[in-house]
Amino acid sequence: MSNRKTILVTGAAGYIGSHICVELLAENSKKYQVIAIDNLCNSSALAIQRIEKISQGTLPFYAIDICDRSALDRLLKSHHVDAVIHCAGLKVMNESLTQPLRYFENNVVGSANLLQVLASHNIKNFIFSSSASVYGTPSTVPIRESAPCLANNPYSRSKLMVEQLLADIALTDPAWAIGVLRYFNPAGAHDSGLIGELPHQKPTNLIPSIVRVASGQQSALPIFGDDYSTSDGTGVRDYIHVMDVASAHVAALAYIFNDANKDARGFTLNLGTGQGYSVLDIIRTFASACGRAIPYTTEARRPSDTAICYADAWQAARLLGWRAERGLAEMCADHWRWHMKNPSGYTDGDCKRL
Ligand code: NAD
Ligand code: UDP
Repeated sequence: MSNRKTILVTGAAGYIGSHICVELLAENSKKYQVIAIDNLCNSSALAIQRIEKISQGTLPFYAIDICDRSALDRLLKSHHVDAVIHCAGLKVMNESLTQPLRYFENNVVGSANLLQVLASHNIKNFIFSSSASVYGTPSTVPIRESAPCLANNPYSRSKLMVEQLLADIALTDPAWAIGVLRYFNPAGAHDSGLIGELPHQKPTNLIPSIVRVASGQQSALPIFGDDYSTSDGTGVRDYIHVMDVASAHVAALAYIFNDANKDARGFTLNLGTGQGYSVLDIIRTFASACGRAIPYTTEARRPSDTAICYADAWQAARLLGWRAERGLAEMCADHWRWHMKNPSGYTDGDCKRL
């Protein structure tokens, strides 16, 4: 009998979920089978086909909304699941400022709903996609997990509320093993160029905005502030390759499933490289990765932007034996390759060319 564990990934067609599925199904890891769910509100089912192509296997996929308790219940009645990686969620901070109720309903109520159904099926191994934005504006860097959480917008608060709910669940029932992973700034794509982050017409994040300039969709990159107390005056962040984010989830599962950790299976960890790069560093590295100039203009600071934010990555290394392995040049090259192969994201046409 196979002793492979079955992992349910929510938000599996999305940017991070799709890379986690690939990592779970990787050739060198015959440990896991995966069940994918996603309501496709910010993704395409074609991502699932791409994951299957990369992994040369099949990935059972169900178009389920985490807010739909009876659909989740039906799924879990027909599939055994050992652990859940919960990536489903809305993630655009600006959008959350104008749609706080939608963010609360989807991210907080949806997560509570999922947890209720999991508890009723006695599935108590859970890894949650959280965000470094729960820290708000840090007073010191590198940011440790023990830093105060001063989330300052509805999106970040939705992540923090779920973290707090998970902490309460862990307190009341020690059977739960709960890993909270706080991502810093994920970027890049699988090196096949088959999966990546969906392009947005008006991205707010730095690397997708640079892609628009490099591909001629935008004439110049606005640099939001060059008068910060940083090496070159521009904002500094901790960019982490999405495949490193994915491998951290596999390390987190290994930790949870390791009997040696059965008395202390809960954790909250930063997922970053521990290295900060400025906006100008990213522009230079991306320009050399794509072989094109990235013109830029200097603009006012973005309201409530942080000058410097990078992780203390030590706890994840200590507990999981995991470290980010890929550098900035690889991140930019992989992000660009995904864009060049899929300028409009996932389309049927692209799929036929596979
Ligand atoms: P994404 O939008 O690409 O993927 C999220 C997926 O969840 C999408 O496929 C979407 O269709 C799905 N989804 C949303 N609401 C759902 C619902 N109610 N039911 C079922 N599926 C639903 O985003 P991503 O970048 O892959 O982010 C994944 C997770 O990581 C999110 O929870 C996000 O908040 C968190 N995160 C992302 C970043 C980042 O920069 N990408 C940083 C920190 C944390
Ligand atoms: N940034 C910029 N121009 C852009 C987008 C972002 O100068 O068009 C800067 C932003 O001010 C910050 C850094 O790039 O210093 C990273 O921004 P992003 O929104 O990607 O990440 P976050 O600020 O949420 O960590």
